[in-house]
Amino acid sequence: MQLSGTPVLILKEGTERSRGKDALKNNISAAKIIAEAVKSTLGPRGMDKMVVDSLGDVTITNDGATILDEIEVQHPAAKLMVQIAKTQDQEVGDGTTSAVVIAGELLKNAEELIESKIHPTTIAAGYRKAADKAKEILNAIAITVDINTDAVNKAVITCLNSKAIRGFKDKFAAIAVKAVHAVKEKRGTKWVVEIDRIQILKKRGKSLAETELIDGIVIDKEIVHYDMPKVIKNAKIALLDLALEIKKTEFDSEIRINDPNQIQGFLDAEDKILKGFVEKLKEVGATLVVCQKGIDDVAQHYLAKAGIAAVRRVKKSDMEKLQRASGASIIMNLQDLAPTDLGTADLVEERKIGDDKMLFVTGCKALKAVSIVIRGGVEHMVDEAERGLHDALCVAKDVIQENKIVPGGGASEIEVAKQLRKFAAKVGGREQLAVEAFADALEVIPKTLTENAGLDPIDILVKLRAKHEADGKSMGIDCFDGEIKDMLAAGITDPIVVKLQAIKSASDSACMIIRIDDVIAARASSGGGAPGGMPPGMGGMPPGMGGMGGMPPGMM
Ligand code: ADP
Ligand code: MG
Repeated sequence: MQLSGTPVLILKEGTERSRGKDALKNNISAAKIIAEAVKSTLGPRGMDKMVVDSLGDVTITNDGATILDEIEVQHPAAKLMVQIAKTQDQEVGDGTTSAVVIAGELLKNAEELIESKIHPTTIAAGYRKAADKAKEILNAIAITVDINTDAVNKAVITCLNSKAIRGFKDKFAAIAVKAVHAVKEKRGTKWVVEIDRIQILKKRGKSLAETELIDGIVIDKEIVHYDMPKVIKNAKIALLDLALEIKKTEFDSEIRINDPNQIQGFLDAEDKILKGFVEKLKEVGATLVVCQKGIDDVAQHYLAKAGIAAVRRVKKSDMEKLQRASGASIIMNLQDLAPTDLGTADLVEERKIGDDKMLFVTGCKALKAVSIVIRGGVEHMVDEAERGLHDALCVAKDVIQENKIVPGGGASEIEVAKQLRKFAAKVGGREQLAVEAFADALEVIPKTLTENAGLDPIDILVKLRAKHEADGKSMGIDCFDGEIKDMLAAGITDPIVVKLQAIKSASDSACMIIRIDDVIAARASSGGGAPGGMPPGMGGMPPGMGGMGGMPPGMM
């Protein structure tokens, strides 16, 4: 920029800037590319993607959120699209691909309107109105269900239809529904489900059919000593965040002994301390010791002799789960342990899963907790099963918390689009065009579902629209047999919250992107060898000059 001949430097050198239509077009293309990338995975006949990250790790999935999470996008608008998937995943757990695909279509349609000289703010305003109306329509067509019927199961099966584990969908749906029912809690008049009370463990081996739901907590550790009991009924559990070992001094010290009896004296003293630990545990009545740190061999021996089972080096998160479920307190100092600190469980058992032994803590009274152990032959399969199960659990939760469903297979989108077009006429003006564009955009869902199933999208769309005009509110496409049918009767249903959230996050982000007319990007300044960054090796201290550099070897 030049003012009266003197150049004024406003932006830092290297800053990239694009403005007006260029900026908008750029952003829209980037967002569309992201939507295109996940489009082919939508629905039961969608394809999978293989994503290889910068470390060479391979992920095979058809989960929208996972794909977008794994690929590293650069463009700021593309990053916004990735954010949609993340939000959708966090809020409702399913519908990630749908949300991204709808956002892409909203932007594509907006681009056409912009070409025909409609101002972006008008489009954004129209989209907002349409999104609000869509919410209203969805609520009106939603069906309220009784959560104790198999309505929950049907929604979960619909979700699993598009997962790699669809071959075992009945089994996984049953597990997910049972698990969510087990941990649901009534708060006021509403059911609340905390998904993290359902623990998921993965163990390679056997097949997906061997996946099981356990009423309780599974700890991936074995009982430390072969003489300890492996089945403990009415267990009294002590949770210890300390080591049942003799503390090692932090200095290397040397003790001179001139009488062999003194050695024995030392050993006896150590023995006595360890025995003291075990006596304390016995005195309070513990029958299972769960230790976050180590347990000395001698202590193990005494524990076994006292008939107390023990596991060691248990993860902190597992300790916390046991604490909540069994009602035990985690003890940092053994002297503090009192009988009231012990937790209870009906049955603790060591069982062999695959090649490993695991500890099953079942029948906890303080707080209901359940675990799911996923089995599967190939690691990629087990991982994908976990992702599918996560979505299934979320859908079960969505239906139980918010007992409303809408017909799937594109039915709800076609119906909302139909009613939005009627609403558009009332909006009038230029915004009407935006509302119509919004309606068209929603139809990308049935269109893509049919396309991915290898059917003719135009043909099916025309038929679906006609059915809906004739008041067939829940008519959709069944991708398995290619037939148009009543989705409610066919049991193909989605939780309303998934659809509401998809429309909300898609329209929010689309509006955000179309209102941008200026992109000012500073040059990347990361030290990782990027252009403009520091050359490698210049960032840190030269080797040997660090804080420890001056110390003689052996002191560290
Ligand atoms: P998302 O990440 O959006 O959940 P999915 O790949 O899981 O994407 O596909 C979900 C869509 O598939 C939903 O619109 C759902 O209604 C639809 N769907 C599920 N089962 C069927 C089926 N048998 N026929 C047609 N559509 C189905
Ligand atoms: Mg899904």
